[in-house]
Amino acid sequence: MRKLSQKKSSEGRLTVSEISDLKKKLAMSSRMLFNSGLVDYSGHISARVPGSDHLLILPHPVSRATVVADDMVVTDFEGKLIEGKYKAPSEVYMHARAYKARSDVQSVAHLHNHMVAVLTMVDKPFYPASSNPGAFFGSGPMPVYMDPALIHSVEQGDAVARTLGKGDAVMLRGHGSMVVGQAIEWVFAACVDLEEAASRFYKASLLGPVRVYTEDETQRTIKARRKESVVQKIWDHNVAKTKLAGLMEGVG
Ligand SMILES: [Zn+2]
Repeated sequence: MRKLSQKKSSEGRLTVSEISDLKKKLAMSSRMLFNSGLVDYSGHISARVPGSDHLLILPHPVSRATVVADDMVVTDFEGKLIEGKYKAPSEVYMHARAYKARSDVQSVAHLHNHMVAVLTMVDKPFYPASSNPGAFFGSGPMPVYMDPALIHSVEQGDAVARTLGKGDAVMLRGHGSMVVGQAIEWVFAACVDLEEAASRFYKASLLGPVRVYTEDETQRTIKARRKESVVQKIWDHNVAKTKLAGLMEGVG
């Protein structure tokens, strides 16, 4: 099985074909996120360009359902456009400052995901409470970035990265979430899991007090969940599902 990790910054510059591969995976994952109802006309996924202070990201104006590999733009970690025929998304600072703050992060997604946004609208911590998706993100309540304003500056991007800390995801109050990971495939799988976990948590909350996982329960479920084979399975399933929906044509 191919390894689901991207080159690290210390491993030198990418070849042209490696850059093309990252662009194609970003376009694929954008269409898959659209097909899963996790992005609509906004929301974006990006990848670090190893060996540089640059990132590849979906452009601002192109539909997340039809974006192609060649549409991707390059910015630096200040959010400044370096290359591309379109402008970068207005919230590029969230991505840029997450890469700046965390050298281990190779891919970032920002979603206006419905159930996650709903959970941020009440004063109720979101804990892992269901095995498949719920424990993917580790123990304890997921951090919430409380300022509801859109992230349009380096300073705001830094503040989101601080709230994220060393974790894999941060919820944005009344807005959505940011998910980070070691490769595009990992971030995609985490986006799917996060929304499913939020949806289950919301429904369970309507029935009564949620039986949240203990630290031990969380750690044991993580062991079975955070595996390359599981991430690959989620990715392959969504590639197939998106092809069946007719949404993968001409991706790049
Ligand atoms: Zn947003």
